Amino acid sequence: METYLEDEYRNVLITGGAGFIGGALVRRLLLESNLRILNIDKLSYASDLTSIDNVLVSKLITKNRYEFVNADLADSNQLSNIFTKFRPDLIFHLAAETHVDRSIDSPYPFVKNNIIGTYNILEAARKYFINIENSKFRQRFRFIHISTDEVFGSLGESGMFTELSKYDPRSPYSASKASSDHFVNAWHHTYQLPTIITNCGNNFGPWQYPEKLIPLTINKALSGEEIPVYGNGKNIRDWLFVEDHVNAILLSAKKGIPGNQYCIGGYGEMSNLKLVKKICTILDNKLPRRTSYEELITFVEDRPGHDFRYSIDSSKAYKDLGWESNYDIDNSLILTINWYIENQDWSNKVSFKTSYNGTRLGLNS
Ligand code: NAD
Repeated sequence: METYLEDEYRNVLITGGAGFIGGALVRRLLLESNLRILNIDKLSYASDLTSIDNVLVSKLITKNRYEFVNADLADSNQLSNIFTKFRPDLIFHLAAETHVDRSIDSPYPFVKNNIIGTYNILEAARKYFINIENSKFRQRFRFIHISTDEVFGSLGESGMFTELSKYDPRSPYSASKASSDHFVNAWHHTYQLPTIITNCGNNFGPWQYPEKLIPLTINKALSGEEIPVYGNGKNIRDWLFVEDHVNAILLSAKKGIPGNQYCIGGYGEMSNLKLVKKICTILDNKLPRRTSYEELITFVEDRPGHDFRYSIDSSKAYKDLGWESNYDIDNSLILTINWYIENQDWSNKVSFKTSYNGTRLGLNS
């Protein structure tokens, strides 16, 4: 798959690169390109730089290739300086608050980080972009906004989301992401900022903060605790391995047309209960206990306003970006489970550091 960007770009600014997907993107570019990278992240509870630091050390990568700036996009003060100094020709905007349950308990950080934060980076990019004199750089400049399928709301038993689906967000998280998508499109139409939006389904893989469904299930199972399944477990998500998402993000920069959106999904629909049972079966084979891990499954009160089903039609990304999913879900799930087994210290470390003990979030109580 043709994802390399060196012919077109030099300086890549990534926001949210200390998070799960941003970290995978930074690592990929460090390992497989010579591009200069500036990672801006405010280092929230969901951040961890270990995976990037490991690459920097093992590949002897210098400050000239990679720099990290601890900055909050919700505060616009530092941004114009950062742009003038680093002179990005490509921006991947991933910084966001991302956990639906936390958005139910406390919506304001989602307004602040996802809406105001996006507005600030768009404005900094616009002011920088209008002053680019070199026509070749102006032509190649891109602002890639990483969004979610959740902005389209909830599907019934049938149907799929496409780029033409109506926006219908239903959680504070998805409402804040939908809002940020609208700002991005407005900056394209009003100011001709060359923006592209990707709307991807649920990601999984190594280095994901332990509150999300897959690491939570693995870690609860490994410690012999009850594995919570919301409601009746029939809610369906469309899962994609994180490296497939990174491929799509890179291809959207290489081949995407400004003003366009691309829906990204690997046809990985699964109910939450089926997914949790699959994890239990893999663990039964890998680390057998007296009874199956499935015995730990406990149905708990449903998430308020729980979207029933997400499903993504990726035909436009297939056709226009040449993107396709390269990672089989079952094999990637085994890889991910093995990673969490081998890296329990990491899960314990980030949970301890952020006082997260796996308790239920998002009940609005
Ligand atoms: P994450 O929660 O693991 O990481 C987000 C990172 O953004 C964190 O390091 C955090 O510190 C940083 N951040 C948040 N607000 C910031 C601010 N105001 N200034 C600077 N940094 C800030 O998230 P993720 O799972 O890696 O998701 C990355 C992006 O991809 C998000 O925009 C999310 O909406 C989108 N997305 C995620 C998924 C998924 O399944 N995880 C699916 C589709 C789209």
